[in-house]
Amino acid sequence: MKTRLTLAAAFTAAFAFLFAPIAGALFGVGVRAQTPATPASQAEAELVARAKGIHDRVITADTHNDISPNNFTADCNYTMRLTSQVNLPKMVEGGLDVSFMIAYVGQGALTPEGYDRAYAEAVSKFDAVHRLTEQIAPDKIGLALTPADVRRIAASGRKVAVIGIENAYPIGTDIKRVKEFFDRGGRYMSLAHNGHSQLADSNTGEANDVWLHGGLSPLGKQAIAEMNRWGIMVDVSHPSKAANLQAIALSKAPVIASHSAARALANHSRNLDDETLWAIKQNGGVVQTVAFASYVRVAGPERQNAINLLNQEFGIVTGGGGGGRQGGAAGAPAAAAGANAGAAAAGQAQGRGAAAAATPLPTPTPAAAGAGAAGAAAAGQGRGGGRGAGGCSIEQPGAAPAAGRGGGGGRGGGGANNAALEALTPERRAQYDMRMMEIAARYPTAPRANVKDFVDHIDYLVKYIGIDHVGVSSDFDGGGGVDGWNSAAETFNVTLELVRRGYTEEQIGKIWSGNLLRVWGAVETVAKGIQSGQIK
Ligand SMILES: [Zn+2]
Repeated sequence: MKTRLTLAAAFTAAFAFLFAPIAGALFGVGVRAQTPATPASQAEAELVARAKGIHDRVITADTHNDISPNNFTADCNYTMRLTSQVNLPKMVEGGLDVSFMIAYVGQGALTPEGYDRAYAEAVSKFDAVHRLTEQIAPDKIGLALTPADVRRIAASGRKVAVIGIENAYPIGTDIKRVKEFFDRGGRYMSLAHNGHSQLADSNTGEANDVWLHGGLSPLGKQAIAEMNRWGIMVDVSHPSKAANLQAIALSKAPVIASHSAARALANHSRNLDDETLWAIKQNGGVVQTVAFASYVRVAGPERQNAINLLNQEFGIVTGGGGGGRQGGAAGAPAAAAGANAGAAAAGQAQGRGAAAAATPLPTPTPAAAGAGAAGAAAAGQGRGGGRGAGGCSIEQPGAAPAAGRGGGGGRGGGGANNAALEALTPERRAQYDMRMMEIAARYPTAPRANVKDFVDHIDYLVKYIGIDHVGVSSDFDGGGGVDGWNSAAETFNVTLELVRRGYTEEQIGKIWSGNLLRVWGAVETVAKGIQSGQIK
């Protein structure tokens, strides 16, 4: 084995020796680029070194990382290099200081049973973050409840966890739960996810122009007041535009968009249009630009129009496309069609399922294998992350980066859409699938977005609403990631691109956490003012 490697190395060296002069003659720059001391390469090395220094000195915060409570147990947790896009080894490797871990609950039925299920799920996620920071690894990561906590914990050399709440659906109709969720550590909350909640309309209503409240419900307006009272940041990333403009007008404190990009650059209902962006600026808030490939770059309108027409023809209501993720494997018809149809089936199955195939479990149980197969079938190709039903998905040395393979599903929110698909007869379903494949072939998805495309959104936002209103998020482990920033381990690449574009250390500090911490501090101040009666 050793001999063969040596031979191979010798061969490579000989080949390079033979080839380099030819390449140099042919292309001119080939040889010079490999010489270390040219001005260009020296400038590049200096730029990288400067970026590294800035990256080390500023507090880097990613405001949206999904979690699975299965990764927060004594035997399987974030001290290990799991296949999840975020965990402690990857945060250390990439120099990511702060992870907002999300108590996410997908939208379900607006019934007492639905609320109970959602509440239990949310509580399991709050508890998971407390377990990590209080029992599993308090020496490595601390839970921040205030902006001052963030700075103090980061200065101690530990990583920082903050809890965000994605979808207030689990508060049910009990407004007191807003305070309860604050007491459990939640520091931002969105009033909806994909699909209308009892509190607010969702962005997904755009698909068929069907709305439940025309913005916020009366309970949703009460929830804004409660969030202001206790000090929970109002997150406008998933609700409808009308709901967001109403929330911004109502809120006595600045708001955030925890993970959204600029709609002017990528016309997706999850992104924020210029009017909403301007309202957030006027309100003193911050937009945490999301590095979610299919929100950063979207396919041309022709493709979506064709899919919409097809869905109309087959009576499919597309309420839930918001969370879908276009596959990194360009042109894979199943993945592409799935993502664009809203693919609720692929939704939650994705992260868990396809991974079982990517990372062999020591002793796969039938349930795990089954889940894997179902996930793979539904999602086309999974992200490579996630787990089977029983095991702990630890990244294998030398394995391809978990998220690099691109993937199908994402979280489609549209249960109705899936039900409508299921209701088709087998013949109609076959026709539908074939037509969807034709559309995918005729209008291929855009190439997967990369860090440069992502920073284009940051540039746009900075130019439009100003450096004080822009931040960063990934939506890792919830479908997020772009080429070059596919896990917490690659976080430096974002800073490097910002430095390349001429952002100063002060500006980068604001983008990476300064703005968010300022807004959070203002939210705290307003809460104190309301509680003391100084703010009515
Ligand atoms: Zn989301």
